[in-house]
Amino acid sequence: MVEYYVPKWEEIEEGILDVVEKMVNDDFVPDVIVAILTGGVIPAKLVADALGIRNIKYIDIKFYKGIESRERKPVIKAVYVDNLENKKVLIIDDVADTGETLDAVGNIITMYNPSLIRSATVYVKPWSRKYPDYYYKILDKWIIFPWDKWEVVRENTNAPIDKKEKYFDILRKLRK
Ligand code: 5GP
Ligand code: MG
Ligand code: MG
Repeated sequence: MVEYYVPKWEEIEEGILDVVEKMVNDDFVPDVIVAILTGGVIPAKLVADALGIRNIKYIDIKFYKGIESRERKPVIKAVYVDNLENKKVLIIDDVADTGETLDAVGNIITMYNPSLIRSATVYVKPWSRKYPDYYYKILDKWIIFPWDKWEVVRENTNAPIDKKEKYFDILRKLRK
């Protein structure tokens, strides 16, 4: 049985501020943020705004097909990145589980010759092979983010969009 954790939006904001504070205390201000699509997009936007950075790039990479069913290696779908040479790069995702995604993205970014690469996520699973440099909390549950709910419901039910009451029922159950 999968145990779910459904953080409220306020916890996400709290988590992002915590992560940004850790970077500032570390004297780390990135030149460029690389967001991992699609879960890293909103955290990347929040971190970018907190630091006053507008330079965001993207890497499209997919590992999980659904909850706890994974392909063997993350699959790189597309790389929307340029001008990283001699730049300080911060890779951002919502959560690290095995750490494979951060690892794969780090390897790609290395090829662009940045001066420094660091990574940040909101959460990390205790068993992750690679921990991000900055994170808010260690959690051993399956996290359903505020930006993830429809994705999770879609992947786990065949409720059509016009039956949206059913979506909400499912989400309420997941929250318990
Ligand atoms: P990893 O490569 O570290 O095993 O997994 C990281 C990727 O898998 C993240 O980009 C995220 O999209 C997805 N993922 C891993 N664990 C969770 C989770 O608990 N909740 C959600 N929503 N996505 C997860
Ligand atoms: Mg995701
Ligand atoms: Mg992802």
